[in-house]
Amino acid sequence: MAMTIEDVNARFESFIARFSQAHPQDADRVRKAYEYARDAHEGLVRLSGEPYIMHPQAVAEIVFEMGLDAESVMAALLHDVIEDTPHSYAEIEREFGADVAQLVEGVTKLTRTKYTYKEDEQMENLRKMFLAMAKDIRVILVKIADRLHNMRTSGAWSEPKRREKALETMEIYAPLAHRLGISKIKWELEDIALQCLDPIGYKEITDELEKREKNYSHFLENITTQIREELEANGIKAELQARVKHVYSIYRKMYNQHKSWDEIYDLYAVRIIVDDIADCYNALGQVHYIYKPMPGRFKDYISTPKPNMYRSLHTTVIGREGVPFEVQIRTWEMHHTAEYGIAAHWKYKDGVSENKESFNQKLEWVRSLLETQEDTDSDEFLSTLKIDMFADEVFVFTPQGDVISLPAGATPIDFAYAIHSAVGNRMVGAKVGGRIVGYDYELKSGDIVEVITSKNTHGPSRGWLDIAKTSEARNKIRQWFKKMAREENIAEGRARFEEQLKKMGVDSALLTEDVLPQVLKRVSFGTLDELYAAIGYGGITSMRAANRVRDELKRMGKLGEKPQQSTAIPIVDTVETPALPNKKPAKRTESGVVVEGVDNCLVKFSRCCTPVPGDDIIGFVTRGYGVSVHRKDCQNVKALASSNEQGRWINVSWAEEPKDKYVTGLEISARDRQNLVVDVMTALTSLKVTVNSVSAKILNDGYDAVSLVIEIADIGELKAIVANLSKIQGVVNVTRKGYEG
Ligand code: MN
Repeated sequence: MAMTIEDVNARFESFIARFSQAHPQDADRVRKAYEYARDAHEGLVRLSGEPYIMHPQAVAEIVFEMGLDAESVMAALLHDVIEDTPHSYAEIEREFGADVAQLVEGVTKLTRTKYTYKEDEQMENLRKMFLAMAKDIRVILVKIADRLHNMRTSGAWSEPKRREKALETMEIYAPLAHRLGISKIKWELEDIALQCLDPIGYKEITDELEKREKNYSHFLENITTQIREELEANGIKAELQARVKHVYSIYRKMYNQHKSWDEIYDLYAVRIIVDDIADCYNALGQVHYIYKPMPGRFKDYISTPKPNMYRSLHTTVIGREGVPFEVQIRTWEMHHTAEYGIAAHWKYKDGVSENKESFNQKLEWVRSLLETQEDTDSDEFLSTLKIDMFADEVFVFTPQGDVISLPAGATPIDFAYAIHSAVGNRMVGAKVGGRIVGYDYELKSGDIVEVITSKNTHGPSRGWLDIAKTSEARNKIRQWFKKMAREENIAEGRARFEEQLKKMGVDSALLTEDVLPQVLKRVSFGTLDELYAAIGYGGITSMRAANRVRDELKRMGKLGEKPQQSTAIPIVDTVETPALPNKKPAKRTESGVVVEGVDNCLVKFSRCCTPVPGDDIIGFVTRGYGVSVHRKDCQNVKALASSNEQGRWINVSWAEEPKDKYVTGLEISARDRQNLVVDVMTALTSLKVTVNSVSAKILNDGYDAVSLVIEIADIGELKAIVANLSKIQGVVNVTRKGYEG
């Protein structure tokens, strides 16, 4: 039973005899490939103990039977040489040419692809990846032939390996064979795989088929004879074949569609093969004349072929014993296409016509698909079409084994954003196959891509916009920039707007929730943030916005001589200060602050709001510590104003010549990054600012808060400092802040 090397040689001789009859000019090259492979695999055996060369030899026969060319037959003979022996691609190219070498390499690549169980969509991507990796459809056909022979001899494998290969066959190879229209091989693959996966279910069906075959031993013979006689009598030349449906399709009907044996009408089928299309319809007429057709079971796949190019007339009729059976009528050409699909369209090359012709043949295939798309399942049609369109897609793996489909030329940036925008925004590098690659690395089908991310990145670079291939990645990068810029714009716009209002003597606390909608309508913005953002990027000047807001407030009666106390919650942290008569500031004092009606009293500056010359200020008479000076918009003023301490507020003002230096606090909010504090200190040094203290803390949301205590002369200098700090990379917001101690 087991083959020896002599047996394999003998098999090859009988094969090459058949091959030479069809293609005498290529016989020598095929023989050379056989001998080369046999020597390369010398001493190697299959699990069955048989010489290894029996496998490539058998695969070559299948490939030949499929109608493929000499290159494909040679590639089949050599398909395991690169993978399993020391021989290299270069050597095969030298001996047999680039065409054969590329086919062998393509099959080797597919062999190395790891298979793990996947969900439907992933499986579909995996199949597409196979197609994409193949580049040349002949690679897939040789690989399918390889798998077919391995499945035929799968008895030698261990049980787990058998199951794994059977599952892979069911999920990848059989659907691929179906898509390529190679139904003959598809059926065989499915039946062998089913036998491995559900041996009991398989046996139940084969047992039943055997039993029925006995019962109806003469049934098929009778009907073929009846039909043949009828056709001959009408001058139609035809060959008749009777077949029993293959096991897996019965299995599927019984288990997925819950049909009983008697509901499977195409269990038996008679195939009528004629010379031309006219005879197909003539034969159909004769069949319907002698048997009663079952209503709704006639299908004309000649006028409307299936997406995989299948063409035939199908009808189900009731035989004389009352048993229904299917009749398929087709021409020889249709028959060949039905059996070998795309391979049938691989017309044999005459040695002269090179790649250009094979390319044209592929185009022909696409064209015929396009012509037949009417009335076919559009999804199936599109995926079939993809076979020839795979050039513009790549399929790559995540480290977890998920397949991601990207356009050809896609980079790690596209990959990262295809997974999630957060992955892209945090990417600091990428690995392909474990090695670091550049951002502009061009991904290839089968690559395993790993994105390196960091919490400490400042996000994507603008340069990525030029590198990314997919609009998805580019949009996400742009969104990021827009969002970041927006936050900065809002902060800046708000500061400018409030400053402007203050200049006009309008308290921003008047913008309460009840008046906001109307005020915003006046400036044509939906929210305050939108208004701030627009001021920030220059869409509207702060002056114009503030003017309109003031006018609207006036119109609404909110701006009287004496502003009304609002009961609504203020949206800005300021409060109406008690109305006190204002007096002109007086002479120079030690503190730089003049306290109304009191000379030389003890003055201290509150640490909660750290007022500086230029700020509107108010004093609070403390118990025993003199007057404490606050900014009028200070939180504590708000708190104290509503208490029963109102009588202790006192008017204060800046002296004409205040002190040189005042201590104040700032807080910088910035995206977390390295060297942020260094950059802040550099900016302050260049502005010649005295820094009393600096501290930074990382917040949980990826932001840093840098607190500063600095010495400055007045509000003008403070604004200049804030403006400079705001320009530092990553800085989102700079606000005034009190300080401790
Ligand atoms: Mn193999």
